[in-house]
Amino acid sequence: MDKYDVVVIGAGPGGYVAAIRCAQLGLKTACIERGLATTDKVTLGGTCLNVGCIPSKALLDSSHHYEHLALHAKSHGIIANNISIDVATMQKRKEKIVKTLTTGIAGLFKKNGVTSIEGSGKLQPNLNVDVCDRAGNVVTTISATNIIIATGSAPAAIPPVAVDQQYIVDSTGALNFDAVPESLGVIGAGVIGLELGSVWRRLGSKVVVLEAMPDFLGSADKDIAKEAKKLFGRQGLDIRLESTVRHTKVANKKVEISYESSDGAQSLTVDKLIVAVGRVPNTLGLGGSEVGLNIDSRGFITVDENCRTNLEGIFAVGDVVRGPMLAHKASEEGIAVAERIAGQSPHVNLAIVPWVIYTWPEIAWVGEIEQDLAAQGRDISVGSFPFMASGRARAMGEVDGFIKIIADKHSDTILGVHIIGPGASELIAEAVLAMEYGASAEDIARTIHAHPTLSEGMHEAALAVDSRTIHL
Ligand code: FAD
Ligand code: AMP
Repeated sequence: MDKYDVVVIGAGPGGYVAAIRCAQLGLKTACIERGLATTDKVTLGGTCLNVGCIPSKALLDSSHHYEHLALHAKSHGIIANNISIDVATMQKRKEKIVKTLTTGIAGLFKKNGVTSIEGSGKLQPNLNVDVCDRAGNVVTTISATNIIIATGSAPAAIPPVAVDQQYIVDSTGALNFDAVPESLGVIGAGVIGLELGSVWRRLGSKVVVLEAMPDFLGSADKDIAKEAKKLFGRQGLDIRLESTVRHTKVANKKVEISYESSDGAQSLTVDKLIVAVGRVPNTLGLGGSEVGLNIDSRGFITVDENCRTNLEGIFAVGDVVRGPMLAHKASEEGIAVAERIAGQSPHVNLAIVPWVIYTWPEIAWVGEIEQDLAAQGRDISVGSFPFMASGRARAMGEVDGFIKIIADKHSDTILGVHIIGPGASELIAEAVLAMEYGASAEDIARTIHAHPTLSEGMHEAALAVDSRTIHL
């Protein structure tokens, strides 16, 4: 039986990054990947590279260019008549990006000496792992000193809605439409629903988003959520809150949706329906319960702050454990576990994980939200700066949104930073770094920011915490 220092199960951003870091640290490492259920081919990179972060951003960028040409280029003096979208070319571009990056991981494995094994990993007693084929037959068994489970997550389903990947699709199907649907329904106004809804709306779909909860973006800062709802509404995204889908039926190549709102029973007919109601951890078939691994009632593997499971030598990282289901969180946990196995003492600060929603304007935040701090009775100072007052934003023609910094009233320590606006996904990095170093708002206010840049908005918001903003 082949023996490894570390066997990683799953090659998503949690698993493949962990495997590379283990190999860098001199550990003999294998990574088992079964491939995603939607395709026969086994590719590395997990949800993120194959059917998540990367393909969605490729389509968001394509559709952003399209919308810019169709609606905004004119104001720059650019005349672009008869704009049209060739969906097949857009999809081919997306697929090429995915292929380049996923094969790139295979190259990184080779370069770092990680043994890549195709198959489904199933835990066995005494730190052994069966590698099974798709029919469930054991192809080989390998043994490990340590195991890192990074099996990720899959789209959640809701009982009244049967995904057929033709008319009713999950996030994977929504990345693969071969034409722009005339009308599109989205169940769930979370990150994935808003991003995928935005792609097809920009290309011409009439999009209705049905969200069961009464609050829009309930986990975001209230001011950001309010601004986002206003701006998305202005763009034509029809967001219906307190709307719970009860039943769907496909008839005459259309999807008939019955849902319940505060006004009672409602119906809606669309060409396509995206189900984006969250994600569930992948633990089925992993053999966890058989070997005594603690898994909670929602299917998440129970871990401590260092990603240790209840079983000696077995760790778990990424979407399959508690915490935000984000690629960068999975990777940081993977690196930390690799270093811990190698005898180092790393840490992952789950309180400072940046969130990004890649709509336009983008939304990004890190740390605490104002409504939670208010509920805790914390004394806070808040500073905001609108992009309307930023020279660079004006030059770009992107004046929607603002930056908001929340600091402790007494110590001035930054507690949270919330951005809605152009380039929010990049701007948030400064806030994350500042918070990781325990910075005060005054630290950012005293830091020189290049002019003219969007990052000056961060500087001005920090000045605003002390009521001394200059350009407002
Ligand atoms: P995964 O990426 O899910 O990888 C797990 C891997 O394990 C898979 O390849 C699976 O095939 C494999 N596997 C499972 N069980 C076994 C087994 N028994 N044996 C062998 N292999 C197995 N996050 C962001 O941070 N930014 C974004 O912009 C973003 N956009 C997203 C857009 C969409 C449409 C979706 C769906 C998700 C998005 N996410 C985004 C979330 C992100 O993709 C996940 O948080 C991330 O992929 C989690 O990484 P992971 O390694 O834990 O799991
Ligand atoms: P997220 O977990 O961020 O991906 O968001 C998923 C969203 O889907 C949440 O805001 C849920 O409230 C919403 N949701 C879940 N089930 C339903 C349903 N049956 N009808 C409408 N919205 C739903």
